[in-house]
Amino acid sequence: MTREAANPMPCSSDIESAAKVEAKRIAASFASIDTFVFDLDNTLYPASSDLWPEIDDRITLFMIRLFGLDSLSLRALQKHYYLRYGTTLRGLMTEHGVDAEVYLSYVHDIDRSSLAPDHTLAAAIAALPGRKLILTNGSRDHALKTARQLGIDHLFEDVFDIIAADFIAKPDEGAYARFFDKHAVEPRRAALFEDIARNLVVPHLRGMTTVLVTPPKGEEREREAWELSHGAEPHVDFVAENLAAFLESIPSR
Ligand SMILES: [Mg+2]
Repeated sequence: MTREAANPMPCSSDIESAAKVEAKRIAASFASIDTFVFDLDNTLYPASSDLWPEIDDRITLFMIRLFGLDSLSLRALQKHYYLRYGTTLRGLMTEHGVDAEVYLSYVHDIDRSSLAPDHTLAAAIAALPGRKLILTNGSRDHALKTARQLGIDHLFEDVFDIIAADFIAKPDEGAYARFFDKHAVEPRRAALFEDIARNLVVPHLRGMTTVLVTPPKGEEREREAWELSHGAEPHVDFVAENLAAFLESIPSR
């Protein structure tokens, strides 16, 4: 009987050497990275927080007021927009002429007080060797308020939001092209941290180092099945279950 068959659990030395291999891989991949780009929602704050469900509910409420349909039909319509246009907003603008500013201020009018300041994450972001930017499908105002609540707003050079992207949302390649242009980002020297795997496809093609931020095991319940990924896709270079811990593992220069 082989050792594996007798004891299928990895022993501590296996785990240690796997961790060493991963640390080497991180050091090699990040050696030439000088721009660190972060998605906002469910990336800079945990997917287990009640923020995203609150925004999601506000989106549904906006649509109930607009269409007067029952919430189940609206849920289906909202997902259709999200999958077809990247955001519900683009679907509403394209198909119904909805005013973007009215929509954005309505859906982001949420209570952020449940979000605790994240000092560990703040220290890890501050220590990164390069520029830091936020790239979000939400609004700049929402990103700034949320980052302020987390105690990390002062660490970012700027926020590139859905208005700056001319309402072209991730994962559309036009969103990234506008972002690279506006902030003079060289994708091959940049890394993207993001919780939705399909938003990493174009960045990976453009040469960015991609990190999928996943909820810790057992905390995936708030996500739709299509949003979930275990990081096995070829466009995912790294998987981070704990964003701060991952950032701490990037060597300083
Ligand atoms: Mg996100």
